[in-house]
Amino acid sequence: MDILRGLPEATVIRDLNDLEPFRRDESHVHGVAPLAVVKPHGAAALRELVRRAKLEGFGLVPRGAGTGKAGGCVPTERTVVVDLSAWPGEMTVSPQDLCLHAPASALLRDVKAAAEAHGLFYPPDPNSWESCALGGTLATNAGGPNACKYGMTRHWALSLDALLEDGEIHTFGISSVKANAGPALGQLLLGSEGIFGFILGATLRLTPLPREFATLLLPVKHWEDLLELPGRLFGGGFLPSAFEFFDPAVLAELRAHGPEEARRLPGEALAILEFDERGCTSEPFLEGLLDLLGPVADGLEIAADVRQRQGIWAVRRMTSVLLKERHPGKVSEDIVVPRSRLREFFAGLDQLRIPATTYGHLGDGNLHVNLLTAGETDPAQLDRQLMDLFRLALSLGGALSGEHGIGLAKREAFLALSDPAQIRTLHAIKQALDPHNIFNPGKVI
Ligand SMILES: Cc1cc2nc3c(=O)[nH]c(=O)nc-3n(C[C@H](O)[C@H](O)[C@H](O)COP(=O)(O)OP(=O)(O)OC[C@H]3O[C@@H](n4cnc5c(N)ncnc54)[C@H](O)[C@@H]3O)c2cc1C
Repeated sequence: MDILRGLPEATVIRDLNDLEPFRRDESHVHGVAPLAVVKPHGAAALRELVRRAKLEGFGLVPRGAGTGKAGGCVPTERTVVVDLSAWPGEMTVSPQDLCLHAPASALLRDVKAAAEAHGLFYPPDPNSWESCALGGTLATNAGGPNACKYGMTRHWALSLDALLEDGEIHTFGISSVKANAGPALGQLLLGSEGIFGFILGATLRLTPLPREFATLLLPVKHWEDLLELPGRLFGGGFLPSAFEFFDPAVLAELRAHGPEEARRLPGEALAILEFDERGCTSEPFLEGLLDLLGPVADGLEIAADVRQRQGIWAVRRMTSVLLKERHPGKVSEDIVVPRSRLREFFAGLDQLRIPATTYGHLGDGNLHVNLLTAGETDPAQLDRQLMDLFRLALSLGGALSGEHGIGLAKREAFLALSDPAQIRTLHAIKQALDPHNIFNPGKVI
């Protein structure tokens, strides 16, 4: 029987060649071929899909732009991929309420641009912001460089529209920063990676657009010198809007194979620091910063103009893509540790002899630990190395993922290493919200 026959308000893709790209995202994980890919154009399609999935026992895998790095949107056995890129809806900005409503299909770059057109700012900025969809960022609770000052996506979502297992669209939350009538159920959907239902839209909180930026390159000879700096800065009353870094191996790759801007990057290792508060380019501010940083800031460079700032950020944002092009079999993890324990983390990594190179969001302790030779490593040994890495992060009060989520890639490790009470609670919530296990089966838990 054709489980998708006559599906209303939808485009259905079944050709095997056309299904192929939907077997993967931007992680190292490949899924099986889905039964089909459905692009819904209206609520009737989703309502009917949910009804048939419960009846026929197949799963529904939500997909945004497919830029995820945890295999969250790749198909598992007997599933239909639900590609929400054509989900309809207008974007509306309400400057009086400092908020914006957008459909899940909106690209994050368009959400940010719509806010900016009103002199407002939507801070979440995963480095994929030009290509990822708002729905994907909500479902993964995406981070990015700005999370170090502004927090993650969950801190900016006021309300969510979601279609749940009853086949109906519900709104959780209101367009106000104050809402305290019971627990915030929308927060449960943020970061849920599609296992509780489809997120179809959201009202997002905005803030006035920063207009002054001090973008600094901080090259160092001994890259370990960088590890104390986040703690020193925050402890000293400075709050950078971004604090990123490249270890020597990543910097060498960028210099040798990156665009022109990358070839000019100074130092043996490098941090990119940005401040965006009013007055951050003034002499007293920068002098105070230099005093606090001390001798480590000797080679500090300040971006002279907007073009230079943009060039620096373009290099940072293409780092993951460049490393993947150069090392297609690499595995990239995104553990997080409290910033006060960065030094212990790297000492532990050395002891474990894991052949890792690292870059990422130093300012919030979220590190992209890359195993560039993973493709040539024996799979059992690779598994051991990853488990050792996760255990190390957990032993320091950290987590398996700072921003990419669990998906399929980290599911086994998550189940093995988490507090059993946390897993029991998650199972209970999943059972209550999705008793037929139709939403993204086999992911996270
Ligand atoms: C070059 C590059 C840089 C990146 N940098 C960052 C970064 O700095 N910070 C960061 O956090 N991430 C980063 N990512 C990862 C990724 O871009 C983010 O996780 C992004 O939020 C995923 O959005 P997407 O639309 O592509 O989602 P997808 O990959 O399509 O899906 C991701 C997950 O969300 C679920 N999902 C998607 N849409 C919906 C929906 N509407 N309803 C319910 N569930 C849904 C999927 O089932 C899946 O589990 C990067 C990726 C790349 C390729």
